[in-house]
Amino acid sequence: MAIERTLSIIKPDATKRNLTGKINAKFEDAGLRIVAQKRIQLTPAQAGKFYEVHAERPFYGELCEFMASGPVVVQVLEGEGAIAKNREVMGATNPADAAPGTVRAEFAESVGENSVHGSDAPETAAVEIAYFFSGLELVG
Ligand code: UDP
Ligand code: MG
Repeated sequence: MAIERTLSIIKPDATKRNLTGKINAKFEDAGLRIVAQKRIQLTPAQAGKFYEVHAERPFYGELCEFMASGPVVVQVLEGEGAIAKNREVMGATNPADAAPGTVRAEFAESVGENSVHGSDAPETAAVEIAYFFSGLELVG
């Protein structure tokens, strides 16, 4: 499998509870390398643009508000099959369905406030990484 990069976000519910280090440990233990990382606060408009693929979904407004409700840590993870591997470490969207040991099983509070975002395909990973980082900020 090829070396990939994927965009990860540690969401406000997790930064608020001081879980950045514990979540990063799960990524690193799975062989994912954090090659870029910054803590920022999104505006609702910036969150809305990031999640615009979900604009028609009923939870969109709440999601944008939540993502702007506190700091997030945006990061680029690199490794063999990083996109799928990160999704595995994250667990299912709804923590009730997430496999034991995954980030969402251990830390997520609800289907909305579920601690982490991860890109779902190579095309979306490229767009999402470029939304937050310039090439100069990615140090593999
Ligand atoms: N979400 C929600 N309610 C739902 C489904 C999703 O609030 O019924 C939120 C949740 O924060 C999720 C995000 O919208 O992480 C994006 O949804 P997606 O289906 O892309 O899930 P993910 O890729 O994050 O697992
Ligand atoms: Mg998604």
